[in-house]
Amino acid sequence: MNQTKTRFAPSPTGLLHLGNARTALLSALFGERFLLRIEDTDQERSRSEFVEELLDDMRWMGLAWDEGPQSAKANPDYFQSKRGEIYARYYDQLEREGLAYPCFCTATELEVSRKVQLSSGQPPRYNGKCGRLNPEDIERRLQKGLQATLRFRVPRNETVEFIDLVRGPQKFNTDDIGDFIIRRADGTPAFFFCNAIDDSLMGVTHVLRGEDHLSNTPRQLLIYQALGLPTPEYAHISLVLGDDGAPLSKRNGSRSLNQLREEGYFPLALLNMLARVGHHYENEGLMSFEELKKYFDIGHLGKSPSRFDITHLQHWQEEVVRVANDETLWIWLHKETQGLVPLQKQASFLDIVRTNCVFPSQADDWARILFTDELMPTMEIVNVARQAGEMFFLAALDAAITAGDDFNAFMAQLKNQSGAKGKALFMPLRAALSGRTDGPELAKLYQALEPHLLRKRLEEYAGVAG
Ligand code: GLU
Repeated sequence: MNQTKTRFAPSPTGLLHLGNARTALLSALFGERFLLRIEDTDQERSRSEFVEELLDDMRWMGLAWDEGPQSAKANPDYFQSKRGEIYARYYDQLEREGLAYPCFCTATELEVSRKVQLSSGQPPRYNGKCGRLNPEDIERRLQKGLQATLRFRVPRNETVEFIDLVRGPQKFNTDDIGDFIIRRADGTPAFFFCNAIDDSLMGVTHVLRGEDHLSNTPRQLLIYQALGLPTPEYAHISLVLGDDGAPLSKRNGSRSLNQLREEGYFPLALLNMLARVGHHYENEGLMSFEELKKYFDIGHLGKSPSRFDITHLQHWQEEVVRVANDETLWIWLHKETQGLVPLQKQASFLDIVRTNCVFPSQADDWARILFTDELMPTMEIVNVARQAGEMFFLAALDAAITAGDDFNAFMAQLKNQSGAKGKALFMPLRAALSGRTDGPELAKLYQALEPHLLRKRLEEYAGVAG
């Protein structure tokens, strides 16, 4: 059997969002070869900055394409805006064979016809008027300078059938489709025309795309049939809904990939989350892209829409942070945070980050707590510390001076001298040292804190400050 080839074919009219990213990922997971094509025929809305962002986002996600553009500079291999000559050949072929015809109907005429059909309870579709024009009629209209769209002549009363790899057998009657426009009056191709031509010419074997494209598929299959072109298989994947059940949008949790990247999400977290939206893996642990690919099963894709839940993304983010190595974590930190961490404290700080943070902004907080003087505890926290009393902190100070960076020795001495144990021992210390009652193990805090800050904070509560 030939290699499976999938593709991602975005229109560069905006930033990639989670729904697009999922389509791209599932396509990359399924195909043995993966192609990227830029569908930029909408000249008004397509922008090369969006292509650039898109390439960046794909690279960031780690979705490598075997074929496709490497830069935003449009070229006829992968940018539809540069492939007009190719589409023209197929328009000519269809026209020559009487399988497409120019249509001169005005917007008003089409609207009237649509309303009449709707009011008599029929689904609106083109009434075929211009399909009955003879060559002289057509010539006369063209001579008059009338602009024409090109319509595909849909065979009457036939069934178009295909097996959707997600949704199962599909059946459409051509009479419900009606002759459709394949080239607009301004000469630009209709989306599903060039989309079909390119999938075939580029050797795509499997099209994975959103189920909102399902109704385009019978038309595309008719185009393939008319042109005698090889046809890919289709898998229409269910849509992703926001947590309120409405289509995913900014309001209900969707973000652009760019935004997620800026918030410090790791691409692997995103991949692990997206690969599981509406798709089940036996393995519930964090997987690499290769593992996600190896165990991806198109038969496991659900038919019903799935909800996007930000807490799932956060779960995977946490998983990635917990296993990240020092280098990865260090690069992930904000520059200002890096600047606060003394060289000899890097390892212990990263250990704290790995076990306590999910986002770089949380690491900022800990760096400020550990390495700057900016501890601004609330009154509540101050009281937690104060409850232990000045003697407790005097003992702590004494123990810290004796034990140095040996946390166990410090604790043993303090316990001994103060008689405190359990929560009464840990909480006041935690509150005094970090200005918080949550956070890293006390041992880690103790080791990461700069010695002069450690002492200073103990002194404040021991009543010997200043
Ligand atoms: N350019 C189309 C889109 O972004 C591609 C649809 C398809 O995957 O066939 O919706």
